[in-house]
Amino acid sequence: MTPRRISVFGATGSIGANTLDLVRRDPEAYDVVALTGHANIADLAEAAVVLRADVAVTSDGDRLDDLRVALGGSGVEAAAGQGALLEAADRPADWVMSGIVGVAGLAPGLRALRHGGTLALANKESMVCAGPLMLADAARYGATLLPVDSEHSAIFQALVGEDRDAVEKVIVTGSGGGLRDWPVTRLPDATPADAGSHPNWDMGQRITIDSASMFNKAMELIEAHELFALPPERIETVIHPQSLVHALVQYVDGALMAHMGAPDMRHAIGYALHWPHRRPLPVDRLDLAAMARLDFHDPDPERYPAIGLAFDVMRAGALAGAVFNAAKEAALDRFLAGEIRFTDMARDVARVLDVAQGEGWLDADAPDLDMILQADRRARECLRDLPRT
Ligand code: NAD
Ligand code: MG
Repeated sequence: MTPRRISVFGATGSIGANTLDLVRRDPEAYDVVALTGHANIADLAEAAVVLRADVAVTSDGDRLDDLRVALGGSGVEAAAGQGALLEAADRPADWVMSGIVGVAGLAPGLRALRHGGTLALANKESMVCAGPLMLADAARYGATLLPVDSEHSAIFQALVGEDRDAVEKVIVTGSGGGLRDWPVTRLPDATPADAGSHPNWDMGQRITIDSASMFNKAMELIEAHELFALPPERIETVIHPQSLVHALVQYVDGALMAHMGAPDMRHAIGYALHWPHRRPLPVDRLDLAAMARLDFHDPDPERYPAIGLAFDVMRAGALAGAVFNAAKEAALDRFLAGEIRFTDMARDVARVLDVAQGEGWLDADAPDLDMILQADRRARECLRDLPRT
């Protein structure tokens, strides 16, 4: 069998490392085209050399020399900067992992769609900020977009072979994050360290804090709305502390199809890698008897105001997703810098959405990449300029 050409954007992150773990187990099956990273040059170079990538790219334009040195005489090409990232996305590949964190993943993902292969989408910001554009470009270039976020992979799997018109609603589960047992009154005091540890999933720092605030779930609800073309009233979320049921699809006959599995991103990544087939994956199997119970409860809106904001964003449409995501990223930056409290993040994101709506810069017809990035910048500035209270 000819090896499949694959590229991994965000190869040094949590999603990237899990992707490369699967690739390293079967190196003959893959011909690695491009691997990208940002600051972690040593890991990027090591992976590129071992997997004999054509090119290794750091998005940090100042790190080209470091990367060249780290690649030594390996024959792997080195490149750096935002332009190099887009050029890497232009190199044809059959399967591309979109595993960069943040809105920085949007432009490379859009470029990769152009060669009509498969884009495995971990970068949820792409769907939140630019869902209609992603879907339109995928259709235009004949590319396949596969969800990698575990909940969306679960929904996607629960939809296989079913009639989409028979879907009544989808239910996205969430663990409730690292602070779910804290009294609501204590949440303003939570530090980045408190919010940065997750009960079930081992992920990057930003997404872990976003889990504690449920901003991550809010993003995922918007992502589900875009990916599966579902109106907001057909999307729900429920807290499920064990993180074993990843999502459910309810059909018009009352059947509820749940997707269960160990909390290990290699499942969703491997499913997207081997789709439409299922292949053996090195993930733990669930022992139902040992698990004994599964708990579910509704999220408390006072504890998780981000969830309500997600539904506002879905109803507003247009640039609301881009503004929401940027404000959320900027609020997280301020929280990490110790400038605002944990609970101020949702308050400030809501204020930015209000300002944008009031000033009329949420509206746009079929926004393109430039308009989306402009809304992103404006939302960040707006958040930074909010009065500190
Ligand atoms: P991470 O922080 O662990 O890794 C991010 C990757 O992006 C790294 O390779 C980093 O070098 C690169 N990067 C960072 N800033 C960049 C920039 N400005 N330009 C280009 N590259 C940059 O993040 P992660 O947890 O792997 O998450 C990646 C994406 O996948 C996010 O959108 C996240 O929401 C989504 N996701 C992650 C998980 C998970 O388990 N980690 C699960 C579901 C979805
Ligand atoms: Mg998820």
